[in-house]
Amino acid sequence: MSYQYWSPELETMSRSDLEALQLARLREAVGWALRTTFYRERLAGVGIRESGDIASLADLRRIPYTTKQDLREGFPYGFLSVPREDVVRLHASSGTTGTPTTIYFSRDDIRRWTDNVARCIYGTGCNRSDVFQNMISYGLFTGGLGFHAGGEEVGMLVIPSGSGNTTRQFRLMRDFGTTVVHATPSFLLHVESRMKEEGVSRESIKLRKAFAGAEPYSEDTRRRIEELLKIDVYNSYGLSEMNGPGVAFECQAKDGLHLWEDRYIGEIINPDTLEPVAEGETGELVLTCLCREATPLLRYRTRDLSGFYTGPCACGRTHRRLRRITGRTDDMLIINGVNVFPSQIEEVVMAMKEVGNNYLIVIEKEGVLDRLTVKVEVGTNIFMDDTRPLNALRDKIRSTIQASITINPRVELHEGGSLPVSEGKAKRVMDNRPRDV
Ligand code: AMP
Ligand code: ZN
Repeated sequence: MSYQYWSPELETMSRSDLEALQLARLREAVGWALRTTFYRERLAGVGIRESGDIASLADLRRIPYTTKQDLREGFPYGFLSVPREDVVRLHASSGTTGTPTTIYFSRDDIRRWTDNVARCIYGTGCNRSDVFQNMISYGLFTGGLGFHAGGEEVGMLVIPSGSGNTTRQFRLMRDFGTTVVHATPSFLLHVESRMKEEGVSRESIKLRKAFAGAEPYSEDTRRRIEELLKIDVYNSYGLSEMNGPGVAFECQAKDGLHLWEDRYIGEIINPDTLEPVAEGETGELVLTCLCREATPLLRYRTRDLSGFYTGPCACGRTHRRLRRITGRTDDMLIINGVNVFPSQIEEVVMAMKEVGNNYLIVIEKEGVLDRLTVKVEVGTNIFMDDTRPLNALRDKIRSTIQASITINPRVELHEGGSLPVSEGKAKRVMDNRPRDV
């Protein structure tokens, strides 16, 4: 197979040149970070007062970790390191409505991010002759605008279709001859089953590739999507804290996700001891962003579980490859690609005076998509012949949860005392999705 590189010199550079570049960029990133009070104080604590205090890459390990909690506490502008006037865009984690983890971009940051995504897309064999339908949410979530810009940079015709509405998606595919799509793996499976239902024949569409990410999925799921849709599927990994998509991506060898080490430094640590794991072992991925001046993040704990493959890749790129991300070290749920912390639902439910003390969060597969149900206990006096107050309350809970997490849940009301109470530590989340679809 012949492989194509977006930036050949960067993607195939020797490890020693790559490390030299990382060191130069780490110094620059530390310089950006030192403009914020947060990092000035943090770094002073370990004797780093200027970027020159980073003498080698090993000095990275002197820097304390940054967590999502730090970002929350710094909201809204605590991590901003350029004048407000130099910021041209903001994004947030999926599932949040703009609050806890907000990332700012300068014009140069957007340019670098776009280049990262273009590199990923081009590396899968796409080019200017492709028609790219971006079937993922636009808005604060980075997957929409991130892939959109990367696709345009490659020179593809980009259709900003957004997520959902399969009938419209099929129409766009047929009208414009879509060859490549980006979606969550669960949406791709959904597309396949809707194709059958809507009588869309495989021959009527020209699809040949898909980028699938935003949520964990297994190698079996990838194979299943590839076989059912007769396309090539590439795993795409990113998180808003590291810009969004474009952090790590599979190449055509499909043997792990290249972490773009000229733009990010990756470490794998044991989440309990916070020490690095042995080479090749699984642990929590920690990332340092080398390409964003407006919101620098050093040694950010992603909470994502992965590990590095050892050994070179058949494609000739020298950037190390991450294993498929299998899960998280915290309780964050990913529902149809959207991040949800159980505490966000609890906050909403418990703030309502009509709601009793017990509630349960249930996630199931409905067809190939995820379905969130929130069961809450309410006072018995509301269960009367007249169902209107019940319906009104159910609707109010549903819309308030949706306003907070952006997902529309099914809400069930139960009589006080009727939901199961676990002995000891309350178990309020039942994730009934099969682990391997
Ligand atoms: P967000 O900040 O909304 O983009 O969400 C980022 C999170 O989504 C990551 O920290 C991962 O937990 C998850 N995620 C994104 N891409 C993948 C992927 N390819 N495989 C598994 N999890 C992913
Ligand atoms: Zn490769």
